[in-house]
Amino acid sequence: MGVIRPARPALEDLVPYEAKDIDAEVYLHANENPADLPGEVLDRLASRIREIGFNRYPDPLSNGLRERLAEANGLERDNVLVGNGGDELIFDLMLAWGGPGRAMLDMPPTFSMYAIDASVSGTGYVPVPRMAADFAVDEEAVLERASQGGVDIVVVSNPNNPTGNLVPETFIIDLLNATDALVLVDEAYFEFSRHTMRPHMDRHENLVILRTFSKAFSMAGLRVGYLLAQPLVIRELMKVRQPYSVDRVAQAVAKMVFQERAAFEAGIRDIIRRRDVLLHGLSSLPDVRVFPTEANFVMFRVEHASAVWRDLLHEHSVLVRDFSRTPGLEDCLRVTVGAEAENARFLAAMDEILASRRAANHFGASAKARRHEDE
Ligand code: PMP
Repeated sequence: MGVIRPARPALEDLVPYEAKDIDAEVYLHANENPADLPGEVLDRLASRIREIGFNRYPDPLSNGLRERLAEANGLERDNVLVGNGGDELIFDLMLAWGGPGRAMLDMPPTFSMYAIDASVSGTGYVPVPRMAADFAVDEEAVLERASQGGVDIVVVSNPNNPTGNLVPETFIIDLLNATDALVLVDEAYFEFSRHTMRPHMDRHENLVILRTFSKAFSMAGLRVGYLLAQPLVIRELMKVRQPYSVDRVAQAVAKMVFQERAAFEAGIRDIIRRRDVLLHGLSSLPDVRVFPTEANFVMFRVEHASAVWRDLLHEHSVLVRDFSRTPGLEDCLRVTVGAEAENARFLAAMDEILASRRAANHFGASAKARRHEDE
């Protein structure tokens, strides 16, 4: 057997995106929509599947979908780019506007793919951390750093994943004025927050907006996202993108879903309502600190978060996301808004786990509890 030459040294310290494949009965870890696609869409897809033309390459630019997205957003087709999930488009932006000798300004803790893509593409990383207490962006520090120059892309997750909060619109406008860098406003959770920077595109050429079909539109399994930007930006991205990354099935389903988007409204409103129930339920638990959210997930802080995460999974088969090892998110877990029964099961599980911890502390730690604390 031969020896393998090592990969690029730049990859040595890189940790792959934590895509967990863990069995559980209740999945509340990935900000997915708990509901599958509506029955009408599935029926139409079933009858169309024979006409997809699997032997043919897809339309490389998803032009049919681009046209619909452009029209709905009051833009032209040239202002829209469709990708294999928002993830691909973030990477394309990093390839086109980042790269060696260039830099991205990030506001951690935030969506980890920004930093991973910067690293993979050789883009310099300029972090301006959020405030420790409430994850608000340090507006003054960001504006000061951006106006110093030497930054090519600024990324603002809005609402921010995983903390759930929005930044003030006035801050984004100040940022757009302070720099000629591309400012990517990641609106992956736009349908839940109902806040968009779209009205500001006409006055700010450096504004780029990202959206996805993965959350509100129940399509995480098919991988479709899109960017809204100036034609000049889209043209550059076309040079770096993979030509056939959005396959025929994904394009067909995304077109159907977008046409039927009104049918998703009630489900989105339900998620927003259940988010408030979840938020209220969590904040009524002793020893839990909940952070306000505008997305379809809730971030909370609880002592010994990793042990709570494990108890949720192993004793209650509920999977949430553990962020406790992320700098700035010590003792933080993130739970996605699920179906009504899933949220209730999660809250009951949390109640039970925390009650047994309190009992163990009160009556002197049992051997089991002691083991948990040590882990
Ligand atoms: N941006 C943010 C802030 C996200 O949370 C996600 C999903 N985790 C994405 C982009 C990418 O989503 P997708 O690739 O599924 O479109």
